[in-house]
Amino acid sequence: MKIIMLGAPGAGKGTQAIRISEKYGLPHISTGDIFRHNIKNGTELGKKARSYMDQGLLVPDELTCDLVVDRISREDCADGYILDGFPRTIPQAKALTEALEKMGTQIDYAIDVDVPDEDIVSRMSGRRACPGCGATYHIQFAPPVKENVCDVCGEALIVREDDKPETVQKRLDVYHAQTQPLIDYYKEKGVMFAIDGTKKMDEVFEDITAILGD
Ligand code: AMP
Repeated sequence: MKIIMLGAPGAGKGTQAIRISEKYGLPHISTGDIFRHNIKNGTELGKKARSYMDQGLLVPDELTCDLVVDRISREDCADGYILDGFPRTIPQAKALTEALEKMGTQIDYAIDVDVPDEDIVSRMSGRRACPGCGATYHIQFAPPVKENVCDVCGEALIVREDDKPETVQKRLDVYHAQTQPLIDYYKEKGVMFAIDGTKKMDEVFEDITAILGD
């Protein structure tokens, strides 16, 4: 089963992707996580990606596509995977389609977790992240046990640069201009499924499993 998660930043697609990954035993591939990991480790890719991410812009396609194609070609992806945050532009989607065609396969499900912009802005202002291990929290919906301290590794939590309000608005603008057109792209391929992402996390997950099956 090869799945793509679509949806605006902060729509909750990452959280759902992790749950899908656990239920169906599929690797969860998040380009945002890969970039953040590279930033943390001070790699060349990380240095390049950071300047775009901090401004709420997309990392250029040429830095992104090969990385994903390489990842999905690995052994653990033979039975499928969940792509979270990729593709984000039409050229990325086309590059993915082409790479999959060469492998003799295709995407089975594109799931759009749909949430209005107003809800996104209020949700993202509450997000906190651990600079140590990358765990994420929400002060209202998923708080850590001890205020502002990571449950996993005990570090003080921060507001990620790209979760700051002015950056969130920029990321939403970028989403509408560059990523939303993918909904039509995957509709045409007959694999597009829209989910109401304003429901409770468990209900959203139930709606997704109703599509993917047991
Ligand atoms: P995310 O954690 O998926 O919200 O991604 C965080 C940031 O990483 C985005 O705002 C982009 O700057 C960058 N990024 C992640 N995935 C992609 C992608 N497929 N194409 C370009 N930039 C990306």
